[in-house]
Amino acid sequence: MILRNVIQLAPNFQFSQSSLQDYVECKRRFQLRYIERVAWPAVQAQPILEHEARMANGQAFHRLVQQQLLGIPENRLTPVDDDLRRWWQAYSETRPADIEGRRHIEITLAATLAEQRLVAQYDLVVITPQTAQIFDWKTSARPAKPDATRRLFERMQTRVYRYLLVRAGADLNGGQAIAPEQVSMTYWFAETPEEPVHFPYNADQFAADERVLTNLITEIQMQELNSPWELTSQERMCAFCPYRSLCERGVEAGETQAEDEIELSTLETLDLDLEQIAEIPF
Ligand code: SF4
Repeated sequence: MILRNVIQLAPNFQFSQSSLQDYVECKRRFQLRYIERVAWPAVQAQPILEHEARMANGQAFHRLVQQQLLGIPENRLTPVDDDLRRWWQAYSETRPADIEGRRHIEITLAATLAEQRLVAQYDLVVITPQTAQIFDWKTSARPAKPDATRRLFERMQTRVYRYLLVRAGADLNGGQAIAPEQVSMTYWFAETPEEPVHFPYNADQFAADERVLTNLITEIQMQELNSPWELTSQERMCAFCPYRSLCERGVEAGETQAEDEIELSTLETLDLDLEQIAEIPF
């Protein structure tokens, strides 16, 4: 019998939508980022200054919305940049989460799955007697490709956020368990504020998510320790990956202007992923 030398995750390792999405898109990226913790600070997108400004603005926008939701008077919230002003105006005009209910802002939920900890950080969850609504702010436009909604539905963020709210959200609901049918998730896009994407939830989807997430986490734990994991076959993702030189998948960063042409995953990375930024101190 051949014994496989499988990985050992650090005792404090936490799975998240970001790390699982990395694994789904490229096993090698997951290995480099979370197992080997390789810092390979290539430029993620061109032009560099534009990309950095976009990241900073995305972060500032999330902060503004958080402060508004916490009740800070809006005349004290002053966006200082053209993009930020436009996004803030779009948010102020559409008020995407203007509903009665108990608000939970920038909260983290966690549960154990396949003997590992799975966590999610939410921009906003609003609980009413009948519903549990998740809101996620994106500073990009709603992806325009015909199959974009399906791919957004299949993203790890959609799966993990809705699943964990059912598994671990009782404390947000006065100790009462939340049923899948009560849950919905809304992606709101600051560049296309009138076109949010809503995903309801149900028991079948919850069961499917549990299966998918359990299988993924189990599969990751069965990966070989000492050999490089599989590189993605979707090579255009590599243009926006900081490891592309290491993988010999090109030197030049992708163009931020080409975002409409690239996968949702890359948009997500370019948009802003506070959770991922917190995890990876590049
Ligand atoms: S450069 Fe490409 S193959 Fe290498 S880790 Fe990044 S996405 Fe994967």
